[in-house]
Amino acid sequence: LSTDAEAKEDYHTIIKDTEKPKGESTKHEFQAETRMLLDIVARSLYSEKEVFVRELISNASDALEKFRYLLLSSEEAKQTLQAQDRQLEIHISTDKQNRTLTIQDTGIGMSKDELISNLGVIARSGSKAFLEKLKDKNAAGGENANNIIGQFGVGFYSAFMVADKVEVYSKSSTGDQGYKWSSDGTGVYEVQEAEGVQNGTKIVMHLKMDCREFCDEDTVSNIINKYSNFVGSPIYLNGKKA
Ligand code: ADP
Ligand code: MG
Repeated sequence: LSTDAEAKEDYHTIIKDTEKPKGESTKHEFQAETRMLLDIVARSLYSEKEVFVRELISNASDALEKFRYLLLSSEEAKQTLQAQDRQLEIHISTDKQNRTLTIQDTGIGMSKDELISNLGVIARSGSKAFLEKLKDKNAAGGENANNIIGQFGVGFYSAFMVADKVEVYSKSSTGDQGYKWSSDGTGVYEVQEAEGVQNGTKIVMHLKMDCREFCDEDTVSNIINKYSNFVGSPIYLNGKKA
């Protein structure tokens, strides 16, 4: 028999696969600029691929900050959101058997429209600058794109440096329906409704064969410790405080 306390402990320590996609999925094309960026990122020989961990943790941390802000925004928001009793945390899990790395946060989440506009279109100034710089360099005879990735960072899209398939499950704090977004980083992505999506966002990266080091717990632990000093929320790796 599990007590409430145990259930809560469980919640702290385990990333659960509770999501069940349902109904039809819709296909969407990435914006042309995004396609170009993804193409470069996916084929990149940039050696410090591990920075994708920093990018995804930083997004998770932003999402948690936005949630905290929402709590402060109105008494009503506070009442309804606090009733959910959610822990504000980042969970990371490695799975060697399935060759996946998962990063989950209990932050603000994304609605269907937000998944489409935030992950399908480049808004990020860093990524825009990246593309501009790349054009310049190509015009000038071509410096390696790798240096430029390092210089600007490519945010969420950096997941495609190491993964040949990325699944995002998200439920917005302002809605009840959860969604699955998925892409192999080529021209299109798919969006589908899903049951059992937890509050916040969960990103599952199916690692490329030559990036399987990123489902090794010790490797990931070292990377987290290297990059996450700035993070204001607790990070758990396979259930242990990272
Ligand atoms: P940036 O963080 O600079 O805005 P990113 O490419 O890293 O650019 O992310 C793009 C957008 O996707 C973010 O601005 C945010 O709106 C959304 N996003 C990414 N990850 C998450 C997440 N874990 N939770 C909620 N929204 C997210
Ligand atoms: Mg970011």
